[in-house]
Amino acid sequence: MLGLGILKGFMETGRNFCGSYYDPERLTTVQYPEERLEPQANARTIPFLIYDGSDPIGGLRCTACTICEQECPAHCIEIVKDTAKKPDYLGKMQLHPKVFDIDTAVCMECGICAEVCPFDSIKMDQVFERAGSHRRLTLHKDDLSKSNEYYNKIHPAEAAAVDAARAEEQKKAQARKAAAAVPATP
Ligand code: SF4
Ligand code: SF4
Repeated sequence: MLGLGILKGFMETGRNFCGSYYDPERLTTVQYPEERLEPQANARTIPFLIYDGSDPIGGLRCTACTICEQECPAHCIEIVKDTAKKPDYLGKMQLHPKVFDIDTAVCMECGICAEVCPFDSIKMDQVFERAGSHRRLTLHKDDLSKSNEYYNKIHPAEAAAVDAARAEEQKKAQARKAAAAVPATP
């Protein structure tokens, strides 16, 4: 029927208007900043770098492979590789970033960097209150570094899947190492 969609829209608005006086589920706004809504699990803002353990710089997972830098459509990531290598979680020697900058004035929060990273090192954050009295919009690796516990807190399902996959890979790597250490029988 002509106009049925409009009528349904009015009815929904009316239901929410009246219902919001007694049903908290129908309240779609809160008194920000006194009240804050928890972001949804898939909400994303700017990227951050994950570190394991207790060292926010030494524990960074990033291997400075530069894939995210190359794939970023806004060209707002700048990476400079360090010359020294460190073992990763599988014991392989990997490079690390000497410089890892993201120009957040340019970042469009698309999440492509997080999608393409083969090391689960860069993920999307949920911080949205980033106003300050300074004009420093480029974040460096020490600003971007956040723990795996933080990642688990903001994206629990995704982080649990990453942790499980990494634990499995670690188990296989240890098994391969143990097999290689067994001397061949004459
Ligand atoms: S979220 Fe998008 S624009 Fe921002 S750094 Fe990642 S790839 Fe670039
Ligand atoms: S964040 Fe990931 S894709 Fe980007 S340089 Fe580091 S390891 Fe490579």
